[in-house]
Amino acid sequence: MKRFLPFLCCLLFLAGCTAPSADAEPAQVQFFSMDTVMSIRVYNEGGEDAIQAARQEVERLDKLLSRTNPDSQISLLNSHAGDGTLISLDAEVADLLSFAKSVSQLLPGCFDITIAPVMDAWGFTKEERHVPSAEALADAMSLVNSEALIVDEASSSARLEQAGMEVDLGAVAKGFAAGRADAVLREYGVTSALLDLGGNVTAIGSKLDGSAWQVAVKDPQNTSEALCVLSLEDQTASTSGGYERYFEENGQTYHHIIDPKTGYPADSGLLSVTVISSDHMLADALSTTLFVAGPEEALDFWRSRDDFELVLCTEDNRVIVTEGLEAGYRPAGEDRGYTYEIARR
Ligand code: ADP
Ligand code: MG
Repeated sequence: MKRFLPFLCCLLFLAGCTAPSADAEPAQVQFFSMDTVMSIRVYNEGGEDAIQAARQEVERLDKLLSRTNPDSQISLLNSHAGDGTLISLDAEVADLLSFAKSVSQLLPGCFDITIAPVMDAWGFTKEERHVPSAEALADAMSLVNSEALIVDEASSSARLEQAGMEVDLGAVAKGFAAGRADAVLREYGVTSALLDLGGNVTAIGSKLDGSAWQVAVKDPQNTSEALCVLSLEDQTASTSGGYERYFEENGQTYHHIIDPKTGYPADSGLLSVTVISSDHMLADALSTTLFVAGPEEALDFWRSRDDFELVLCTEDNRVIVTEGLEAGYRPAGEDRGYTYEIARR
């Protein structure tokens, strides 16, 4: 098993190398954008131009959506919070804001893109991480309210109603970018590709031999090993977990996914949530939302919809896989104490 595990973890990479002919070596690029390492691999012949175009699209969106880039449209919106100015935005930015607002309503109290002041209070934005004082946290929490983000899709404009409010698209931007990069690759005729936009793995089509991509879900307690392996075709697997960005203070661990009800890192009994969907942006937004919501609410919500599947890893070492994945998943962590169960509708 020990020898087999590294294989599982490299599966994403090996998926291409196991294709039948030598010319199946992918064209690939690795780059840093949206504050994370990204990679794009295209297995169709002559994929270099497609890769460059997809990368440029991701970098364009990073410039447009980043809160830390003073020239982005989101920075413009944030800088006018509370002064009544309606800010004109590109249609795609207005649509994304509107989508993010709608996610806040799906599971109230779990997802809110106006969480930015709280991220700042914890020092996640400037890499000066610390537990905020009760007063600083209360001040920041008084600014979290996505209902005070007014979006008018018809005129592609938005405003923040309260001074000090700020939008942070960290929980949805990579999924949005995955959807756009996917579209660009397809415009170039790509039918076989893998994108990894920092925890959002998108499979385009299948391997060149027609079989499904095999994508490993990381073990949140041992990220160099796999929790399970999923068969994917034309889907994104988006993972949110407390292990991605965190710090320790006085023996306690604090991570970067905040419960908007408390202002503290979410503590819902989950170590990670992976959402699998053909809607890349939905997958990204829901992985964050359901990580805050916890296992019971996540499964109830899954039962109310038919547009995504889940892999939940709980603090008590259970891996819950929803039934739509049953035929295409392989457990990989029994030797590390995980038990696997299928959730049914
Ligand atoms: P990652 O960005 O590490 O892949 P997520 O997609 O779960 O993970 O997004 C986490 C980011 O989303 C945080 O860095 C922060 O910018 C923002 N965020 C944190 N908590 C929330 C929340 N409850 N609702 C919306 N956005 C959040
Ligand atoms: Mg997310």
